[in-house]
Parts: sequence; structure tokens; C-alpha cells
Amino acid sequence: MSKALFLDRDGTIIREKNYLSDPHGVELLPRAAEGLKKALERGYLLFLHTNQSGVGRGWFDLEAVHACNRRMLDLLNLPDPGFSAICIAPESPDEPAVYRKPSPRFINEMLIQHGLTAEGCFMAGDTIRDLQAALNAGITPIMVKSLPGLSAEEKEFVQNHQIAVRENLFELVSRLP
Ligand SMILES: [Mg+2]
Repeated sequence: MSKALFLDRDGTIIREKNYLSDPHGVELLPRAAEGLKKALERGYLLFLHTNQSGVGRGWFDLEAVHACNRRMLDLLNLPDPGFSAICIAPESPDEPAVYRKPSPRFINEMLIQHGLTAEGCFMAGDTIRDLQAALNAGITPIMVKSLPGLSAEEKEFVQNHQIAVRENLFELVSRLP
């Protein structure tokens, strides 16, 4: 196995709810489950990498994040192995970043642990921070945007870095090499 898909959570797999801490608020985005199942079928390892600064800001605890993740995993109902690892970055933006995207640390660690090469790895996310983490790690970023349009800043970023934009995770996975 030499290929992997790293994924952001909020706004990429589940609907962005801004500092979600209640598992009842977890709502899958259209075609997300279908896309992730297809990625597993195609032999991609899946990794979840989510910034959760609500923890660092003291707004909710790590257990709330785990509860939301569990709810998401129940709804996704992925076949084995599902996600090979999950990274929750709890730092607030004013703390030194350890795993907080755009830090490439989690991606770099997974490449080593799983014997992956950067060429076979992709990062799907809905913000510049996700895309920048991928660039910092030397893997290929892909933007997932379910909203009608990109902001001017996002448009400029994806153009400058020649980053593909996909409507949803199914479309994204269908067009992976
Ligand atoms: Mg996001």
C-alpha cells in the first residue's frame, strides 16, 4: 500500500458548524461517505487531520471532539480499515502550533510510519490552511468546496499553486490517479 488521502473534517467530510461540540450536530456532506468508501476500494489509506482550536480556547474539551468524531464514523459506516489514524490538533491560533494545520507534522509522521511516498499522497480540505499543510509536507493538496464559490483569496491561492477544486469527496476520489 503506497497511497493515502488525508482529510480535513469540518467543511470537508461534515458540514461546517463553527466550533461543533455536540455530536447531534454532525451532518455528513453530500457524497462524502460514498467518496471515502471508493477511496478505500481503490487502495487509499485514509487519515483524518482536524484543527479543533475550540479545545485550546477552552470552549469545549477533547472528549466533545471524540464524541463528534464517533458520530461521524457511525454515519460514514466505512469498511475496514476506515481511518488509519486520526489527528486532533487542539491548539488555539495564539499558541505555538504542534499539529495545528498548516503544520505538516502529522502528515510527515504518517508518511514515515506507513512507508508512504509523498507522490502517492493527497490532502483534501476546504480551507487554505489545509492546502498549505499539504504543500508544507510536499504532498498534493486538493480543495473541496461545496459552497457556490471560492473567496477571492482562495481563488488566488488555488490559481497560484495550481490546485484542483472538486465539488465533493466523491468527485475528488473519482479523479485521483
Ligand atoms: Mg475545514
